[in-house]
Amino acid sequence: MTDLQKRGDRSPVPTDWTYAPAPESTDIVSLQDRYELFIGGTWVEAKEHFTTLAPRDESPLAEVAQAGPEDVAAAVAAARDAYRSWSRLPGSERAKYLFRIARILAERSREFAVLESLNGGKPIKESRDVDLPLASAHFFYYAGWADKLEYAFPNRKPKPVGVAGQIIPWNFPLLMLAWKIAPALAAGNTVVLKPAETTPLTALLFADVLRQAQLPAGVVNIVTGDGRTGAALVDSEVDKIAFTGSTEVGKAIQRRVAGTGKKLTLELGGKAANILFDDAALDQAVEGIINGIYFNQGHVCCAGSRLFVQESIYEPAVEKLKKRMGTLRVGDPLDKNTDVGAINSQMQLDRINELVAAGKEEGAEIYQPPCRLPEKGYWFAPTVFTNVAQSYRIAQEEIFGPVLSVLTFRTPEEAVEKANNTPYGLSAGVWTEKGSRILWMAQRLRAGVVWANTFNRFDPTSPFGGYKESGFGREGGLHGLEPYLSFDGAETFGG
Ligand code: NAP
Ligand code: MG
Repeated sequence: MTDLQKRGDRSPVPTDWTYAPAPESTDIVSLQDRYELFIGGTWVEAKEHFTTLAPRDESPLAEVAQAGPEDVAAAVAAARDAYRSWSRLPGSERAKYLFRIARILAERSREFAVLESLNGGKPIKESRDVDLPLASAHFFYYAGWADKLEYAFPNRKPKPVGVAGQIIPWNFPLLMLAWKIAPALAAGNTVVLKPAETTPLTALLFADVLRQAQLPAGVVNIVTGDGRTGAALVDSEVDKIAFTGSTEVGKAIQRRVAGTGKKLTLELGGKAANILFDDAALDQAVEGIINGIYFNQGHVCCAGSRLFVQESIYEPAVEKLKKRMGTLRVGDPLDKNTDVGAINSQMQLDRINELVAAGKEEGAEIYQPPCRLPEKGYWFAPTVFTNVAQSYRIAQEEIFGPVLSVLTFRTPEEAVEKANNTPYGLSAGVWTEKGSRILWMAQRLRAGVVWANTFNRFDPTSPFGGYKESGFGREGGLHGLEPYLSFDGAETFGG
């Protein structure tokens, strides 16, 4: 209250109208010094460990196990053992555990949200209001399918696949865990999950949720480590690999899995087009465009990283966009007022810097609103590039950071052609008042998800996934069950 002045006997009047700090307490999280591997329902010691950091200030949080190939093999063996009884449980029994997990996640949501922001760098308001409710909702949703598989796929006799190896990225650590584990268990499979190297902590805390839910030992196993652990899981005796991450690693995995008979789904990168027509409600559109690229620091595979503006409204649109960028609060992920948090790792920051330098060099015009970045930790200011040509690296490559490239178009045909001019095909956004134009566009855009007059909307009932180099297979909804089932020997996706 130091900046408040007393005005006689009236209430204090602030002298400064900027936001006061509103830090979320980290007391609710109790971290261990060291975490081991969660195999067969117990903690198994690993030979090697590495330190996991808080990206907001680079402070060490805990030591985490680096699983080697023998550890991965032990986890797969535990999952194989557990599969015998888990796959034979009636669906309603499996549902019981999934409902429990959903409930416990909801009950412990504050603890998980704080830990997610601490280890990953995303704003607490996002982990609290998006990641946690959605993670819990996925378990609730798939719990509902567990005893209805025969109705979901009538006359096709769905059977579980076996042991699923699941490899997830660092941008939505707990949510990606939920997207992977919930449908796998609902369908009667058991799981070995590898979280990303930089964000293992919520997956390790999830092991405690499994204990509370009394999930039978070995149904879910968690092996932490870097890319080598992921590679060992791909080569292990699993029946299916589900991977979310970069296109490069996805391609490598596809080569390893080819000819092995393992089923495969790949959810890879994106370079989504957000298409703004001149008849759109401009203020709402700007809000959606801001959310589309600066949500989670742009560490989002479906981020709207290419904005196509119809030429007739180019100036007002860019002006409004820059003005709105100036109101984004960048800083401590654990502050409840923060809009843009810390970049996840030094590696990711280096990649963003490299691509932004390339954008400047190739001739695009850069704008960053004035903002003071903290001295420690990994930070990048919200950035927009104008004067971008389609051939520039910033218009072609996934930056995975808070960087927007603005391009223009004149006709709907031109918008479609430019939007589809990318090796990716994960998501797209269309902003227009005309319903018929939305449908016309959605039919022509080569993207797994097309949002209309909104962006970054997720729901457990709605399938998500890509075309082309964005991968194959769908997660979420009824479609998300299919990769975890086999139908009388018939393969549906991948391997
Ligand atoms: P990544 O290397 O593809 O990582 C994804 C997961 O795969 C992580 O758990 C990773 O472990 C693991 N992995 C790494 N090498 C592997 C291998 N040879 N075999 C099996 N698993 C392996 O992606 P990243 O390092 O997190 O980020 C790099 C780029 O990927 C980003 O710049 C972004 O463009 C893209 N990305 C896309 C998404 C998406 O949702 N589509 C998410 C994250 C990143 P480590 O964590 O130890 O690397
Ligand atoms: Mg990596």
